[in-house]
Amino acid sequence: MYESFSQDVKNEIVSSHVKNKCCKKAFLRGMIFGTNPSDETALYLESENPSVVMHYAKLIKEITGRRKENDISFTAITDSDRLNELCTLLEIDGVNATDAPISGCDECIRAFVRGAFLTCGTVTYPENSYHMEFLVRGSERAEMLMSLLDEMGTNPKLIERRSGFYGVYFKDSESVLDMFGILGANKATFKMLDVKMYKDFRNNINRLNNCEMANMGKTAAAYETTMRAIEKIIASDKLDTLPDELKATLDLRAAFPSATLKELAEMHTPPITKSGVNHRLKKIEQFAEKL
Ligand SMILES: [Zn+2]
Repeated sequence: MYESFSQDVKNEIVSSHVKNKCCKKAFLRGMIFGTNPSDETALYLESENPSVVMHYAKLIKEITGRRKENDISFTAITDSDRLNELCTLLEIDGVNATDAPISGCDECIRAFVRGAFLTCGTVTYPENSYHMEFLVRGSERAEMLMSLLDEMGTNPKLIERRSGFYGVYFKDSESVLDMFGILGANKATFKMLDVKMYKDFRNNINRLNNCEMANMGKTAAAYETTMRAIEKIIASDKLDTLPDELKATLDLRAAFPSATLKELAEMHTPPITKSGVNHRLKKIEQFAEKL
């Protein structure tokens, strides 16, 4: 299992440039949305990925115009004035109002979704299963995200997770690939196509092998039965009572144990067909059974 696929996707998202100011705001709003703020008076960002934190800091700096590092603690904003200032700039009524309708350009919704993925999104490495999920607090907020994703032509599903949290998720390869397109995660797309192709190829090979092995198993079992019948007939002294044509086949089978049925058929004088050999071998087996 490849653990950091989510982080790879997040690194790709932060490394791509967001042009418009409106989109930057929508992106930051998405990031705040994904932090699932639980109270009005503070904003906390938790991320194991430093580039996500840096991107968040960069956006806040750009949008608020605060340049100095020490002006802002990025991972925890508890100062109410600063929080109000940020919300005003993002045109929202508070940190819990990030699910208000998004106005702006055509790209703003996409920017919001990308931001949200950074703070509440995960995706599994496609080797075992396909699963992308946004973990969202509150059913209304989850439904808001679903309708945005719907608008972009995807087909998300909703599941209730732990206390008050909902998973907005995709679990088929087509949807996850569509989402990579929306997130602008091209490397992840290629990686997934690569793994998917290898996986499909391997499944085909497995199917082929299973099928071939089943046939080989059947052939081996049939061969075993024939050889045991022949041994039994020879040991029984009843070989001479066997009809001539069956005796000829028995002799050939005993003399050439590794020959295929087709080869055995051609060794007969005159040659017979493969199914003819098969038929005679069955009769030999029936003869042995009666002994
Ligand atoms: Zn925009």
